[in-house]
Amino acid sequence: MRVSFHGAAETVTGSSHLLESGGLRVLVDCGMHQGGREADELNRGPWPYEPASIDYLVLTHAHIDHSGLVPRLVKEGFRGRILATPATIDLLAVMLADSAHIQEMEAEWQSRKRQRAGLPPVEPLYTVADAERCLVYIRPLPYGTPADLGHGVTVTLHDAGHILGSAIAEFEAEGKRAVFSGDLGNRGTPIIRDPERLAAADVVVMESTYGDRLHPGKEDKLKELAEAIRQTKARGGNLIIPAFAVGRTQELLYDLGQLVEKGAVPPVQLFIDSPLAISATEIFERHHECFDEEARGLFTSGEDPFAFSGVHYVRTSDESKALNSLTGGVIIMSASGMCDAGRILHHLKHNLWRPEATILFVGFQAQGTLGRRLLEGEKHIHILGEEIAVKAKVKSIEAFSAHADQAGLLDWLTAFGQNGRRPGRVFLVHGEPRAIDTLAGLVRDRLGYPVTAPQPHESFEL
Ligand SMILES: [Zn+2]
Repeated sequence: MRVSFHGAAETVTGSSHLLESGGLRVLVDCGMHQGGREADELNRGPWPYEPASIDYLVLTHAHIDHSGLVPRLVKEGFRGRILATPATIDLLAVMLADSAHIQEMEAEWQSRKRQRAGLPPVEPLYTVADAERCLVYIRPLPYGTPADLGHGVTVTLHDAGHILGSAIAEFEAEGKRAVFSGDLGNRGTPIIRDPERLAAADVVVMESTYGDRLHPGKEDKLKELAEAIRQTKARGGNLIIPAFAVGRTQELLYDLGQLVEKGAVPPVQLFIDSPLAISATEIFERHHECFDEEARGLFTSGEDPFAFSGVHYVRTSDESKALNSLTGGVIIMSASGMCDAGRILHHLKHNLWRPEATILFVGFQAQGTLGRRLLEGEKHIHILGEEIAVKAKVKSIEAFSAHADQAGLLDWLTAFGQNGRRPGRVFLVHGEPRAIDTLAGLVRDRLGYPVTAPQPHESFEL
């Protein structure tokens, strides 16, 4: 068995790992790189593997940093099968269409600019039609059902507790078991179930986004959220929340609904300004098989935790533009979560310069993204061709992360070896170098497993 790491090696985006066994070539995830020009170049650059040579693509979940290059993979020759959970498939359809739409808009904008400079136009990375075309290769693989991929290789998906439909991929090949964590969620995340702890593995490939950090408790994060709402409202400013359209938005909606219900915050006017988030919320409501007991209970009792008084869903761009003139304490939740594209840019442009406003981050901000630069305190930024002064308060509540923290990652890893099959090797991916180094040290010291942090395109015979 050979495993090669082609993305998310010493970084958090562009996840893509290749597993080869007995002539079979299986790709685990095919993510888009995010964060500035360097990422754009990687997304457009040559493939580290021949797309036509891949037999299967197993998708751990629908987030674009794990699935965003699938339309390009298909466009450039992939003809195998794509396996994912039914919920992931539904989310993928809307997410890839949305990503393609962004690609088309950006290419159009760039081309107009280039035309004025006498340069030839640029092609989008892929189009909406490309995104639709790749869906015919997808086959559902429900949790806990082994799929025979031929050549003596099987794969089973387990609940990763990260977003709706997210999965851990467990492969059996050549008498060995290799487990890819995908993105691992936190225990106690609303709506979805906790990550499944597996008992045996010979090789583990684990994410390490928060390998160097601990999240504050759940009560603290709700307190911080309520505080941010109250303080911003008292200043007469808007609260702008950049949020991943899928997962984070629904989790926040759920938590905000509970705060409003309990009277912990004054009545809110909350605008969900993301057609993708709206479609994703509808998909969440269809997939009760992924819910934890609490969410299932709410839905069976007829309560809809995503719809409460004061919530407005904003679909059209005219409705979205109308939000630009709102002041005085509304909450606007919009995507993308790392502020590198989408409608959030307009809301930042209209609120960042207002000292009474608050920009509240509720997810990891990768290096190079606008979100990260704001969090690091940049005072002047360019948005949509305009220089904007940053006068708003910029805050972050890390506990909303959909990723397990250091303790969660170690706890998940500790479960292996319970029936005697302790991992002979652990690979740490999907983390920035500091997070990986810290986590690697702990894994070695506390669990005694050999740990490797693969470099981009590094390959290992196992
Ligand atoms: Zn993810």
